[in-house]
Amino acid sequence: MGVLALQGDVREHAAALAAVGARAVAVRRRSELEAVDGVVVPGGESTTIDKLLRLFELDEPLRAAIAEGMPVYGSCAGMILLADRIEGGAAGQRTLGGMDVLVRRNAFGRQVDSFEADLEVAGVPGGPVRTAFIRAPWVEQAGPGVEVLARIPATTADGRDAGAAAGKIVAARQGRLLATAFHPEITGDVRVHALFARLVEDSRRS
Ligand code: GLN
Repeated sequence: MGVLALQGDVREHAAALAAVGARAVAVRRRSELEAVDGVVVPGGESTTIDKLLRLFELDEPLRAAIAEGMPVYGSCAGMILLADRIEGGAAGQRTLGGMDVLVRRNAFGRQVDSFEADLEVAGVPGGPVRTAFIRAPWVEQAGPGVEVLARIPATTADGRDAGAAAGKIVAARQGRLLATAFHPEITGDVRVHALFARLVEDSRRS
């Protein structure tokens, strides 16, 4: 499979995929996209990735691949890029879309800019997943076809009130699209990547 390698934490995703036995190649051109059967859109800066997608003429091919059912996993900025609708986007910011969700950029606000958390993620066995949130978005609304995989609990592990973040959706799946507001690739917990690798594996068989 591939990791979109225009900007963001490409290497970390490639390493996490390697750790679950999936071979990942960098995708920067159309020919590279055509050669893979699944793509990770990494975290980084969604406005920059959006501009580079257009510059590298990868936006339309990626939209077409999504429409044809190629598995795509978007993490953080990648989640923003998979959203059909966004709030708090920069002027003219576009997304690839594909997931029937409204995603709010930089949703957690300045005080809780970055944090780590242990979250139960549906479909990921073996206890809570160690996650990192970095200027993360959350899902504000999800359509009926979207499966919610994780939400922010009402109280954090250290007993603090999650405030406005309580109950917000931070991991979701729709068909072969998987999105997390957090970065599992930097905590060493590779079970979300294993989940995505299984999704890619299943799509090869069907
Ligand atoms: N705030 C970033 C954006 O809007 C996402 C941050 C991240 O990917 N860590 O693109």
